[in-house]
Amino acid sequence: MEKIMMTTPVVEMDGDEMTRVIWQIIKDELILPFVDLKTEYYDLGLEHRDETDDQVTVDAAMAAKKLGVAVKCATITPNGARMEEYKLKKLYKSPNATIRALMDGTVFRAPILVSGIDPYVRTWKKPITMARHAYGDVYKNSEMRIEGPGKAEIVFTDENGNETRNLIHEFDGPGIVQGIHNLDASIESFARACMTYALEQKQDLWFSTKDTISKVYDDRFKTVFEKIYEEEFREKFEQNGNTYFYTLIDDAVARVIRSEGGFVWALKNYDGDVMSDMMATAFGSLAMMTSVLVSPDGKYEYEAAHGTVQRHYYKHLKGEETSTNSVATIFAWSGALRKRGELDGNTGLVSFADRLESAVLNTIAGGEMTGDLAAISTLPSVKKLSTLQFILAVRNNME
Ligand code: NAP
Ligand code: MG
Repeated sequence: MEKIMMTTPVVEMDGDEMTRVIWQIIKDELILPFVDLKTEYYDLGLEHRDETDDQVTVDAAMAAKKLGVAVKCATITPNGARMEEYKLKKLYKSPNATIRALMDGTVFRAPILVSGIDPYVRTWKKPITMARHAYGDVYKNSEMRIEGPGKAEIVFTDENGNETRNLIHEFDGPGIVQGIHNLDASIESFARACMTYALEQKQDLWFSTKDTISKVYDDRFKTVFEKIYEEEFREKFEQNGNTYFYTLIDDAVARVIRSEGGFVWALKNYDGDVMSDMMATAFGSLAMMTSVLVSPDGKYEYEAAHGTVQRHYYKHLKGEETSTNSVATIFAWSGALRKRGELDGNTGLVSFADRLESAVLNTIAGGEMTGDLAAISTLPSVKKLSTLQFILAVRNNME
């Protein structure tokens, strides 16, 4: 069979532990036999990040900005234990945080739906994509313990030294205070990224905050979204038959549960943190959740939403058989190749991505899956496969 040719390379960011093992098998069994793969390779494995003082992460992000499409393997975010384990020179930042900051991106997470793995919510028929704002609020806060009676105020001092003050509270006993902030520019980038993504997916966009209570802070988010929608997106959404829908966060939660899915749900930083874990679980499994980082100027980085599956990797190192789910990592590859194909007008590459995804879904729907899915499958007869067996079953299905 003739291989599908590529014109522009995809930026390939290799990673750590079990997902690094899976990465190589996916390439060898599911991509290289079918595609004349062109990648610009960056090794983001922790050892190489340490050797390069983390420069490789910055280089990889710059390459993603230049070439426009990247695929990333899960990576270790070092902590004290990892520092010891890998004898690191220092505690590096999370690669995802570094890449997200350099690309000024928004992360979209979408579940992969397949028959036999049913969402916990009966009405959900289509995926719900979560978009979480990744700047500010409680993640960049300033907090204070108040030990006793006194007055707490917010003070803003402008460039000329003029002060604006707001009373927070007159304390008559001990308590706590917190100051948080956000930036118009960051909220605008977030709004544009969400609208661009929803437009491409031909889906409605939902956004929700608590503006009835937070009449300045959350109201700013609401106002920015409305303005950008009216001025830049309404017409294009309407051409697709889609809408932008704003509602209060508590109303949104109730509506999401009653919905049949098939839309993008944008949320502020904290709401997105909490809701995306709930949605991942409600759709069935974190191992079936994809993730794509999109910059406001339309650059894409695809990955799985889960981590490096450390526990399975240690079993693998001891020579024990593992049954690690590779679906989200395969979909990261198919997502990146499809996007590359779309940008290059390479229809062969786009249909390869479709074929690869169908093969994965057909394999699972046919009862062959890894242990995590076998444990929750509603199919009458299920075969639990090892990490390698599952990927080979997908290859067999493709051929
Ligand atoms: P994890 O790798 O997501 O795994 C947590 C547990 O979830 C696993 O032990 C496993 O449960 C289950 N699981 C996750 N993915 C699975 C898959 N593909 N197939 C089957 N089961 C799966 O999270 P972690 O163990 O907390 O983190 C490990 C490392 O990943 C850390 O160093 C962290 O920094 C890093 N991390 C990276 C990213 C990223 O690069 N995007 C994201 C999160 C975490 P059982 O053990 O019960 O089978
Ligand atoms: Mg979280």
